[in-house]
Amino acid sequence: MLEPHLLAVLAAGHTVVTPNNRLARRLAALHDVAAREGGARTWAAAVAMPWSAWLDSLWREALTAGAVGESSRLLPPATASHLWRRVVEAEAHSRTPLMDTGAAASLALEAWNLLHAWGSGGASWRAWSQAADAAADNDPAAFARWAERYRARLNALGAIDHAGFPEVLLRTAASMPAWRDRNVVLAGFLEFAPQQTRLIAALIAVGMRITACDSVVPSEIRPRSAEGATPRDEVRMALSWARERALAQPGTTIGIAIEDLAQRRGEVRALAEDLLCPALQWPGRAADLRPYSISLGSPLASVPVVAMALDLLALAAGPLPMHDVALLLRSPYLPEKQRWADRASVERVWLDEGRRTVGWHEALAALQSVDSALAHAWRAVRTFVPAQHASSPREWVGAWRAWLGAVGWPGDRGVLDSAEHQAINAWEELLEAFAGIAAVEPLMRADDALTVLRSLAATQVFQPQSPTTPIQILGVLEAAGMPFDALWVVGLSADRWPAAPEPNPLLPLTWLRERAAPRATAARELAYTRVLTDVLARGAEEVVFSHPRQRDDYPCMRSTLLADSEGEPTLLGDTPISVAQAIAVAAAPLESISDERAPPIAAGTYVRGGARVVEAQSDCPFRATALFRLDVEPWPSLPEGLDPAERGTLMHETMAAFWRKVDSHAALAGLASDAVADVVAGCSAQARARLPATRWARLPAAVAAGETRRLTGLACRWIEEYERPRPPFVVSRVETRAHVTLAGLSLRFTLDRVDTLADGTSAIIDYKTGHVIPEAKWFDARPRAPQLGLYALALLAEAPHEAIRTVAFAQIQPGEMRVHGIAANPATWPGLSSVSDVAWFASWLQVETWWHEALGALVGELRAGIATVTPRDNGEPCRRCELQPLCRIRSAPGLSNDEVSDA
Ligand code: SF4
Repeated sequence: MLEPHLLAVLAAGHTVVTPNNRLARRLAALHDVAAREGGARTWAAAVAMPWSAWLDSLWREALTAGAVGESSRLLPPATASHLWRRVVEAEAHSRTPLMDTGAAASLALEAWNLLHAWGSGGASWRAWSQAADAAADNDPAAFARWAERYRARLNALGAIDHAGFPEVLLRTAASMPAWRDRNVVLAGFLEFAPQQTRLIAALIAVGMRITACDSVVPSEIRPRSAEGATPRDEVRMALSWARERALAQPGTTIGIAIEDLAQRRGEVRALAEDLLCPALQWPGRAADLRPYSISLGSPLASVPVVAMALDLLALAAGPLPMHDVALLLRSPYLPEKQRWADRASVERVWLDEGRRTVGWHEALAALQSVDSALAHAWRAVRTFVPAQHASSPREWVGAWRAWLGAVGWPGDRGVLDSAEHQAINAWEELLEAFAGIAAVEPLMRADDALTVLRSLAATQVFQPQSPTTPIQILGVLEAAGMPFDALWVVGLSADRWPAAPEPNPLLPLTWLRERAAPRATAARELAYTRVLTDVLARGAEEVVFSHPRQRDDYPCMRSTLLADSEGEPTLLGDTPISVAQAIAVAAAPLESISDERAPPIAAGTYVRGGARVVEAQSDCPFRATALFRLDVEPWPSLPEGLDPAERGTLMHETMAAFWRKVDSHAALAGLASDAVADVVAGCSAQARARLPATRWARLPAAVAAGETRRLTGLACRWIEEYERPRPPFVVSRVETRAHVTLAGLSLRFTLDRVDTLADGTSAIIDYKTGHVIPEAKWFDARPRAPQLGLYALALLAEAPHEAIRTVAFAQIQPGEMRVHGIAANPATWPGLSSVSDVAWFASWLQVETWWHEALGALVGELRAGIATVTPRDNGEPCRRCELQPLCRIRSAPGLSNDEVSDA
């Protein structure tokens, strides 16, 4: 509940200073409400501002009055942050290599701010660099060296930064008679750091009348306690509770404070959209006003319109990862945004080409075929090449603005919405902040400049302003001291409340402990969180403190600091269901029509896909129909080297070329191993031509060389270990074509190789560079690996008198090299199974008959259009199938998710 004294001091025109901007805005709004309700038609605006803005105003006054005698140049935060980064980088180059200089610089800046806020105003770090253990190069000693360098740079520039300027202000206070008798109220501060205390004392000493008060006062009603099953349920309960109150009492202000909002902002926003304003989730409603606001913001670099600008600048400077350029071309912040779908199609082309990166000219070339107007417009600006010489930050800003304007950013979207406008304003402010870096670094090279800009955009938080909303979702520190009509605080479990200590590692622990600095010790966190809990409990007439019963599979308990909450926690009603679930529950029952047949195929039709379509029909009829009749293609991935299909092609080509040259076992026996290796090397070089030269060119040289070595090594090993020991054979056919008609459909194949064995019979051999089904499973009720059977039938159809008595898969795969096959007479190829060993057959003729009937039945299914989603063996093929989003097997009755994924 609001401290009533505050409205009186605001009405009296006193300055009210708050710990954060949100509370200052809330107090100003309450002042306006009070004036309106008091019947005033005009009134003076409230003077309420956060601490930082108050210091800035004092600083400007002191400058205007000429009271600042020493360093008067105040470095903007972005410039100070950049200077820290350069200081840390310089040391990393000259002395201590660091894994992540950016993170180290951020930590150092945080330590520098803590040092000033919680120190006594002197250069304490000097003692740490002189300590006996400084030679050990510990973290405080490293920080001390950085701090010394940073201070030296500030002195050389005649500048101060925000960490140190309160000290300058307090020295200036005596020269500012205008501050005498001024009334200031510090409202809602949980604590004051020593630096703040010193400044307040100095201002009081010169006559400023400063008082401090709470912003909220206790209510008669004690907070209630609640628990949710999980952190997600807890948030849903809080949102649902807020919605009920907002609907029941329009005009109320409801707060939801979330302990870990920074980590869960996306999840909380999605839940809020679903439970508070489901209708606004439809396309085209993104800019509509929501009934809630959510604080903490997101990095400016991640805001779409700014991310697009950064990527466009990066693309002008050099190639980007392919997926980033594809995303860029789909952006609505390019001219003619309705062409995005056309532009999106280039991604598939780039995937097929195996491009990992795309440069400006490659993007232009790709655009030509899908959006010639944009390609034409961009070609006109292609002469812009970021200068390689060093330029000033201001010059870079000019070049970037010109470039973005020339390529059409931020597009021709007509009226930008409010959040987009604010993002573009924030972008302009970012560019100005970057230009200000010239104070510490007058010249920068192109890539350096862009890196710094990206880093600034990544650290700047963007929080678009929105009109006051009934429901405010915010972090606990922001919520502390805010007066609401109702407040729910989420996440107060014993393991998080109080938080674990997390002292800054660059400052000595003893120094932090002595000063009870933030996050230094468990005792300090306990004391601070006690105060925080008390202030949150005073935030509204109705306050709920909640915690989850379970988090990440661990049970959670209520924080002991909530002992004053009323009674045992209660589970407030059922966890609300989402709007999508509600629609599904309320929907009228739908008529279900089973449509598991594709149109039949006419007799005599040639079916594409060869043996693969029959294999797919056997594994899952829907898969065969989708792949070979509906032409469904899974979205390609981008492998690190060659993909499995490309490796298979190269191996097939290499083996075919080899056996065309060395056409029999006798010829192989006449070659020493070295000679075999030479022939294989020549054949693999010849095979490389099967892949386009551009494909090889896009592979890193080391990867391309590794692929060639892998290919020749595997081929040589196969020939030496599996071909040389075989009984005599002659390679009678290589890459030969054959076709067969089964169940009225025509199928065509290319057979890798046919050998004539010593007994005059033929052996069909198929190379495999991946998984192979063992021969024991070939004769299952639904045939597996039907390829060799189909080849045998096709060869028989072409040459009825040929005695095919052996079929084999040559599995040429690292770690899985072996031959799988069956032979009527295993003596012709030791290692293969006899037909009677793998099935119930008494003769080879029975095998051929079985193939004819069983494979013919599968082709008959295909012809009849049978397309049921019935994968074999309870979903076993689904593990290697990319069609799950299409067939929705996971929703098939009788087949659980676990069965599909674990099969
Ligand atoms: S995922 Fe399974 S059920 Fe779906 S098409 Fe593939 S094999 Fe058939």
